[in-house]
Amino acid sequence: MEAKNWKLYEDLESILYTEAQLKEAVAALGERITRDYQGKKPVMVCILKGASVFFCDLIRQIDLPVEIDFMVVSSYGNGTSSSGEVEIKKDLGRSVNGRDVIVVEDIVDSGNTLSYLKKVLDSRGVASLRICSLLDKPSRRRVPLTVDYSCFEIPDAFVVGYGLDYAELYRNLPDIGVLSPRIYADK
Ligand code: 5GP
Repeated sequence: MEAKNWKLYEDLESILYTEAQLKEAVAALGERITRDYQGKKPVMVCILKGASVFFCDLIRQIDLPVEIDFMVVSSYGNGTSSSGEVEIKKDLGRSVNGRDVIVVEDIVDSGNTLSYLKKVLDSRGVASLRICSLLDKPSRRRVPLTVDYSCFEIPDAFVVGYGLDYAELYRNLPDIGVLSPRIYADK
């Protein structure tokens, strides 16, 4: 599957993962989660907005009775590096007490966002809690965090597409690419 001939692609330095590669990796991850949660009814929590595209594809690759919910947490604002402060802007609409919870994120960078969320959800009496992130940038980690499920480990570069944004743009790209630094150099 070739990358689309879209004008938006001119802002990318390179394509890291194509639509076809993402599809294959997400399907494999869905099978793994299906195996690991046999006999369970996990609650899958999508961290908006970045994980939205990945989440919608992933849940449709899981052959289990899953429930879904959404959270909005503050992360980068319009820049390309984390402030370290985390705030819940939209919380879950249900209790997760006694439930097997899988938090679905787009990318783990410093680990700040998810280590904070982990503490919050643990304090709500979950039966189990696992972290699932499409991408992982382990070289950037500032707080220890175990990512239980991830599709790809990536180098230290700022990526967009497949739900990931820069200043709210590029989420609709079907592929994931490295954003050209000229796009944010003067900001
Ligand atoms: P952390 O708290 O782990 O430093 O940051 C996690 C959040 O930072 C992610 O959910 C994502 O919103 C943002 N982020 C980190 N790296 C990237 C990146 O390369 N591209 C984009 N678009 N967002 C990123």
